[in-house]
Amino acid sequence: MSIWNRNPRPQTLAVPVSVKGNGLHSNLPCTVRLVPVDRATGLIFRHLPSGTEIPVNAEYAGDLTRATTLVKAGIRLQTVEHLLSALVGLEVDHLLIELDAEELPILDGSAEPWVSAILQAGVQTLAGQRRFIQINQPLEVHQDDKWVRVSPSNGFGLRIRYTIDFDHPAIGRQSREISLTPDKYRRDIGTARTFCLEEEIDFMRARGLALGGSLENALVFGPEGPLNEVLRFEDEAVRHKMLDLIGDLALLGAPLVGLVEAHAAGHALHVALAKAILDKPQAWTWAELPEANDSRKRPEPRFSPVFAGTA
Ligand SMILES: [Zn+2]
Repeated sequence: MSIWNRNPRPQTLAVPVSVKGNGLHSNLPCTVRLVPVDRATGLIFRHLPSGTEIPVNAEYAGDLTRATTLVKAGIRLQTVEHLLSALVGLEVDHLLIELDAEELPILDGSAEPWVSAILQAGVQTLAGQRRFIQINQPLEVHQDDKWVRVSPSNGFGLRIRYTIDFDHPAIGRQSREISLTPDKYRRDIGTARTFCLEEEIDFMRARGLALGGSLENALVFGPEGPLNEVLRFEDEAVRHKMLDLIGDLALLGAPLVGLVEAHAAGHALHVALAKAILDKPQAWTWAELPEANDSRKRPEPRFSPVFAGTA
């Protein structure tokens, strides 16, 4: 069986794997070790110097200005979204993530190095059923003319429609839609790099941000176009926003079934949507995938909620 066929069971990694690099904002070195778990624990960070464990959940969300931060007991884990995006994209929902510093490595600015590490380790199945949050009522969060909303989708999975509209000639308006699968994540989303405008760099550096930023780990758009030699996609910017959204939705603590539409959003609105979903359990139900080799031999897989969410 291909590991990327929809597995109705929870997945973790097969063996541990480590990734090293410097943080985008702090420029400090960090080693991350992805460690398999033996039961369905969810995703849990462990900051080794303090021993603090932070479950990946919106209740621990901290500063969301330029990256997604998880905070607990004075420990601030910064720029968690690209690793989380790769894990959600590849359907690895249960893992211990050990790290020796407070900001995750930026690597090449995309999720691709995380995807490679996950593929190198391989995945294994855990006992039990994979549980999904299946949306049955629309929910929306907005700030000025920016918004994110979720609504029920036709298929069983996560569908994303994202639009950005930058008042900047090198980016402009970009819109993309995807029904997420691990293959599409790897091909169309995971390699899109983080980006910023050249005019923002001095401001960010003055605030102690982006100290590790360079053309090796970010797309930088100047007035005439990207300063990088090549774009990986013509619409790499909106694809990276989708990558970020997928990572931020990991803060739900379970995979999402629904249509998420976002307009000019960012980490704060992505996480606000996750919180809105968790705060309104009557808007969703827990659902499971049926067994692939179900002896009842359904003509097509059918997906139905198994019990009402009561969280
Ligand atoms: Zn990002």
